[in-house]
Amino acid sequence: MTRHAEVLIIGAGPAGLAAATAAANAGARVTLLDDNVGPGGQIWRGGTPCAASPQNSARETALREFRGSKASLLTGRRVADAPEPHVLRAFVEETGIVESFTWDRLILATGARERFLPFPGWTLPGVFGAGGLQALVKGGYSVEGKRVVVAGTGPLLLAVAVHLQQYGAKVITVAEQASLRALLPFAVKLSSHPGKLVQGARYRAALRGVPYRTGCWPVSAEGIDRLTAVRLSDGKKSWTEACDLLACGFHLVPNTELASLLGCKLVDDFVAVGPTQQTSIESIYCVGEPTGIAGVDAALIQGRIAGLAATNKTEEAKTLFKKRDREQAFGKRLDRAFALRAELRSLAQPDTIVCRCEDVRYSQLHSQQSWTDAKLQTRCGMGPCQGRVCGPAVQTLFGWRNSSIRPPLFPIPLSALVPATTPASNEITQLQETV
Ligand SMILES: Cc1cc2nc3c(=O)[nH]c(=O)nc-3n(C[C@H](O)[C@H](O)[C@H](O)COP(=O)(O)OP(=O)(O)OC[C@H]3O[C@@H](n4cnc5c(N)ncnc54)[C@H](O)[C@@H]3O)c2cc1C
Repeated sequence: MTRHAEVLIIGAGPAGLAAATAAANAGARVTLLDDNVGPGGQIWRGGTPCAASPQNSARETALREFRGSKASLLTGRRVADAPEPHVLRAFVEETGIVESFTWDRLILATGARERFLPFPGWTLPGVFGAGGLQALVKGGYSVEGKRVVVAGTGPLLLAVAVHLQQYGAKVITVAEQASLRALLPFAVKLSSHPGKLVQGARYRAALRGVPYRTGCWPVSAEGIDRLTAVRLSDGKKSWTEACDLLACGFHLVPNTELASLLGCKLVDDFVAVGPTQQTSIESIYCVGEPTGIAGVDAALIQGRIAGLAATNKTEEAKTLFKKRDREQAFGKRLDRAFALRAELRSLAQPDTIVCRCEDVRYSQLHSQQSWTDAKLQTRCGMGPCQGRVCGPAVQTLFGWRNSSIRPPLFPIPLSALVPATTPASNEITQLQETV
């Protein structure tokens, strides 16, 4: 099946929703694709309601405006391939088939994911990504009465800690690896973003009595067959916090794989864009986290700009540049404040797993020269996550970048790639059954 959109948008988070609304309101035929079951992206994913967690008004507004536009939304579609110019292929999990989409203008709004860094015990049951645990709780996983340590870096830690507490967890401590010295200039500059300042103050108030330790990081997760404690360090001393769960993430890394596959230029690991969010390829725009980790306000405004620019409303888009630039400057300050400290690069021990899909340990990687060597010699990055988890970790530990992006971007059953009635498809089905 092939569908055509004048403006095709990948990713229904805040950036993609804003882009779709603006482009559809300008009169274009717009299709918005996302791999989740509903719109909202990471921050606004739907979930189990909780009395202590009020409705998010920005989310309600964005969704209402989107529904009021004529843009169409197709969820459960994971874009995995770009077989020829102006064609994308998406795997539909529910039906097990691949659908094709053609487009005149394309807007990439693929968001970001958490960065994980390996330390002894980080693969024990009970250790979660901070945003990952938050997503599970939104999906119904109960943390009621559980003792949780939240650790790593970035503003997401506070948001997650508050969220877990609202759902009944006992947050024992929040360990932020950035030093107070690095955070102070960031905090002072927050006065120019009153909304963010108020939100930060609300988080702190909600976590009254919970220590927020700066310059503090996890050195090991302890337990035999599941987590029972976390060892934290402040560089001078280390101590153990007994807990049931560790929610741990080291800020975010952009999802740039699709942009790379399409040939868009990247600079310093982010998709390079011009003033209208246009990439190095004229018909492709990119918005939100793949262009810089700068938060939901930046994602919304960039989305609007790209939606307008992709429908030739450049003059209207220009009126938003100043506001967008201010939000992007906030993102740059975020990067500086939460930069990773050198100590995090030496937490992994020789037997610490770095690539958990393929069980590759630190000692196996230490003797390799590059990401390609590591892949060829150890299978690091060649499992189901295709390097999404271990790639950023390896880059932090060894400085190697994963520069070879190949389709499919996500694992797809072979049977989905071959028309159902061909002899080859029968052979594949038999092969899969045998395996
Ligand atoms: C795990 C996590 C939790 C977060 N929680 C919070 C929070 O509580 N509070 C907060 O202020 N900020 C949070 N953030 C940060 C927040 O997501 C960003 O600040 C901002 O909202 C990002 O908006 P976006 O539209 O750029 O990306 P996202 O909201 O990430 O949306 C991108 C969408 O694109 C989809 N997608 C990606 N690739 C494909 C593909 N190939 N095919 C189909 N769909 C695709 C993704 O599944 C996602 O739905 C979180 C980030 C992460 C990674």
